[in-house]
Amino acid sequence: MLSLWLDRARSFTSDPFVPNAEYDAVVVGAGITGLATAVLLARSGMKVAVLEARTVGAGTTGNTTAKLTLLQGTILSGLRRQYSQEMVNAYVDANREGQAWLLRHLDDNEVPYQRRDAYTYAMTAEGDEKVRSELAAGQAAGLDVEETGDTGLPFSTRRAIRLPGQAQFNPMDVLESLCVDLRAHGGVLSEGVRVRDVAGGSHRIVRTNAGAIRTKLVVLATGIPILDRGLYFRQGALTPGPSG
Ligand SMILES: Cc1cc2nc3c(=O)[nH]c(=O)nc-3n(C[C@H](O)[C@H](O)[C@H](O)COP(=O)(O)OP(=O)(O)OC[C@H]3O[C@@H](n4cnc5c(N)ncnc54)[C@H](O)[C@@H]3O)c2cc1C
Repeated sequence: MLSLWLDRARSFTSDPFVPNAEYDAVVVGAGITGLATAVLLARSGMKVAVLEARTVGAGTTGNTTAKLTLLQGTILSGLRRQYSQEMVNAYVDANREGQAWLLRHLDDNEVPYQRRDAYTYAMTAEGDEKVRSELAAGQAAGLDVEETGDTGLPFSTRRAIRLPGQAQFNPMDVLESLCVDLRAHGGVLSEGVRVRDVAGGSHRIVRTNAGAIRTKLVVLATGIPILDRGLYFRQGALTPGPSG
């Protein structure tokens, strides 16, 4: 099923792939990770190419629930079970900085978004406990997360928590705006180019289905590893959690 975000006309047109071209940096994958990274590299003065196997946003980004939030299901309590409080704080700080960077980009480029409260809620006794842990983990990490009886949902929940002042947007608006920013800084983006292999030392050769290019730096922003496959796709299927 085509997602709501991808079900529209595109303003973006792909750049031609030029075999044997040389770049300072090649970013593999045109989701939000790849495009934000490519923009930062291009703004720093690097000659950047983004290679996308399918189309911009065709991976996870064009199929998300479109939230830009520091409350992410039960991620923080999951992290706290495995790592120190310092590590959890660092995760929250990095997320806060990423959120602020993206909102600045949206403001500067007049990309619409809405401020909304974010919720994590539970429908079962097991979920209830997880949401309680998430509240504690969020507060310990300095977030203004609070328990609420009002989720705005048309059904009742066992327990719900809320983090005020987060955001939502159309992910394709965001990606297209990042593409414009990338090109304004000399970057190129080629769709339909699947990276097969990366070889070499200080100057790397990126081999694709359309030919090879050379670069000093390669960023793999493909969601799952493409060069060292380790059955990572199984992980999500093994760890279901409460809604968020
Ligand atoms: C159902 C769901 C909902 C989510 N909702 C949210 C949310 O609301 N908010 C949030 O912040 N996060 C959400 N996430 C997490 C989400 O995955 C990330 O936030 C973000 O969209 C990931 O972006 P990405 O750029 O890393 O990956 P992707 O968007 O998946 O981009 C990777 C790109 O790499 C390309 N690619 C793969 N292999 C190759 C190759 N060999 N050569 C060239 N290109 C290649 C793919 O085609 C793809 O376009 C959600 C995840 C899921 C599964």
